[in-house]
Amino acid sequence: MYKHLHTRLFYAAAILILFYADWKYDLPWYSYLLWCICFLLTVSWGVYFMQLNYFMVSLCKGSADKKQIAITFDDGPLREFTPAVLDILKSENVPAAFFLIGKNISGNEDLVTRMLAEGHLIGNHSFYHDFWFSLHLKKRMTADLKKCEKEIFRVSGKRTTFFRPPYGVINPAVAKAIKQCNYHSIGWSVRTYDTGAKSAEKLLQKSLKNLENGDVILFHDWGQHTIGILSDFIREVKNRGFKIVSLNKMFGVEPYRT
Ligand SMILES: [Zn+2]
Repeated sequence: MYKHLHTRLFYAAAILILFYADWKYDLPWYSYLLWCICFLLTVSWGVYFMQLNYFMVSLCKGSADKKQIAITFDDGPLREFTPAVLDILKSENVPAAFFLIGKNISGNEDLVTRMLAEGHLIGNHSFYHDFWFSLHLKKRMTADLKKCEKEIFRVSGKRTTFFRPPYGVINPAVAKAIKQCNYHSIGWSVRTYDTGAKSAEKLLQKSLKNLENGDVILFHDWGQHTIGILSDFIREVKNRGFKIVSLNKMFGVEPYRT
């Protein structure tokens, strides 16, 4: 929020200077338009890139000193995809974090139970995963988060402290809802764009390109080629000497409330 505060102070000072310069030198009208565009671009940048920690601090990347990465999957549990993801993680013996959509849980309770039994973490990814989530009022967002929280608790008996905002969009209202519900905001440092990947080969290349210490990888259970590349991805990560760890180990935070 400090970055947003500083940005507003900076632009407030800039508009005062603009008023003065206009009074003294008669600036063209589009000077003000330019000011508006710059301000909107700066704020939009902060909304769409949660790694900037513009409205609140999100956990997106771990320590650069440890040769480890974490793998995360969004949007499950899904009957058609999640079991295959779990099978691969089990055979490769690596942990992951699953950010669950609340409405997907009913009918897939066994998948959530399996995630936990096999050592994976579960986090909240909202109940409805509404495309317009970030445009709702804070009250509605909070109710959505709580609804997902309740659903996760029904199945697992656990109250997760991890929340990943739908589409990774954070604005002042989303930030307030996350804080009010007392969640850690969890982001990523490597966006694989697996839901739109044109081929398995391209996805594998993109996922492994520039891999660094502390990276948090974003996959989706339903990514078209995600299951196809997952084993190769994990093996190559291991070949490069990285250890795959849980998010709570990466960031040293408790994943569940007691
Ligand atoms: Zn999602």
